[in-house]
Amino acid sequence: MACYLYDRLTAQGASDGIFLETPGGRALSYGQVALLSAQIAHALKDCGTKAGDIVAVQIEKSPEAVMLMLACLRVGAVFLPLNTAYTASEIAYFLGDSHPRVFVCDPSRAGELTSIATAAHVAHVLTLDSAGQGSLMERAADQPKDFENAVRGADDLAALLYTSGTTGRSKGAMLTQDNLASNAQTLCDTWHFSSRDVLLHALPIYHTHGLFVAINVTMMAGAKLLFLPKFDADQIISLMPQATCLMGVPTFYTRLIEHPGLTAEAVKPMRLFISGSAPLLAETHRIFAQKTGMAILERYGMTETGMITSNPYQGARRAGTVGLPLADVEVRVCDPTDGHPMPQGDIGVIEVRGPNVFKGYWEMPEKTAAEFRKDGFFITGDLGLVDGEGYVHIVGRGKDLVITGGFNVYPKEVESEIDALEGVQESAIIGLPHRDFGEAVTAVIVLEKGANLDEAQVLAALAPKLAKFKLPKKVIFASELPRNTMGKVQKNRLRDMFSATYG
Ligand code: AMP
Repeated sequence: MACYLYDRLTAQGASDGIFLETPGGRALSYGQVALLSAQIAHALKDCGTKAGDIVAVQIEKSPEAVMLMLACLRVGAVFLPLNTAYTASEIAYFLGDSHPRVFVCDPSRAGELTSIATAAHVAHVLTLDSAGQGSLMERAADQPKDFENAVRGADDLAALLYTSGTTGRSKGAMLTQDNLASNAQTLCDTWHFSSRDVLLHALPIYHTHGLFVAINVTMMAGAKLLFLPKFDADQIISLMPQATCLMGVPTFYTRLIEHPGLTAEAVKPMRLFISGSAPLLAETHRIFAQKTGMAILERYGMTETGMITSNPYQGARRAGTVGLPLADVEVRVCDPTDGHPMPQGDIGVIEVRGPNVFKGYWEMPEKTAAEFRKDGFFITGDLGLVDGEGYVHIVGRGKDLVITGGFNVYPKEVESEIDALEGVQESAIIGLPHRDFGEAVTAVIVLEKGANLDEAQVLAALAPKLAKFKLPKKVIFASELPRNTMGKVQKNRLRDMFSATYG
């Protein structure tokens, strides 16, 4: 009987082919993956875990953590990974909201988190550390190395991923077996993955990017992961001779282009550099291409939908765009107020439909209903347009749109002009409360080292390029922009920091 996603993920990997290798010299073949995940599946079952139960984890990156995800699939449990940076009170919210059967955490936090888990009626708290040690693996050690997988179909839940939730409550996105399987298959095809590929994996594994894009695509292709604890530019460059592909957030690439080791010679063994999770600056794309002769492939997606668009594998990879809708994904741009499709080229809210789109928010039927159109399209909340050649351009999150004196200002348009100024490293446009305008367009700018630019010079340079209402009312200089672990600029934090700017 079928265990839908697990069967699809493991169909290609040859039993003696290596699935995962660490820089420390540890290697796990696909055959060993099957044995180890079976033992962990038994350990979960011993805790009373049944198909449909949730297993929540807040654990460091380790090969065993990946095996735990697979074990959940085999038991039919719903895998719920949590950001390792979450505090005890945040964990209390997630456990209370999702009612997991089992919670696995780092041994160093077991003391404070066990009482929280108990209060949330979690039946079992187990531990797992970055070295793969802890009570989970103690329980798994003596278990049989085969396991009768649960029967799971396309529409059964595979994972619950909470959105990063910069406003309001974080919501649990219910992802089905086929949401994940279809997206991994489409990405394998789009990016030409095969068993000859070796992916440099330096992303965290509590987010859809590191988990379901990186791991699922590699596994579905029967390929290999070079599994790194975190991003380190030296290490990435030194491992390129053994690899074929890198998936990264834009900050990986801004750091790589600053590294003297990034040359055309160094990247020769690599066939593909992919970027996503946050906008890649056109400048980064350009410098990377200049230094290496290779064009970074930018793609776009979100927790609720998996991947939505990708620049082409063959064909123009356009800087500043997120490419074309994936083969099985429909994308349209609509008027955010009434949902009517916008004329081609106009800015509106991006909506998505396809087998990749999640089932809804966990225990939030009203919120779910509000974010889907009647014809099944999901309203992403991202603002963008589709150009004449079908490429999607993102201009910002809807909630980051600045409305000043009744006019809409799309942050990306102003940021692009500022970023193009000599001496500017990067910028963020935010709307801050203002008595007359409602919101005032405000620029937060990070200068390049040694650059000398003041507010008057920035405004003078922008004035001939942008309509007056789009010009920043104020320019704030900062040493860096606050980012989350996926490299996204946290505009909500900037808005809080500077909320009193206009009195
Ligand atoms: P998350 O659910 O954490 O993966 O965040 C999804 C959001 O990240 C999307 O709704 C976009 O706002 C943003 N995002 C992801 N990829 C890109 C990209 N290539 N360019 C611009 N924004 C992106």
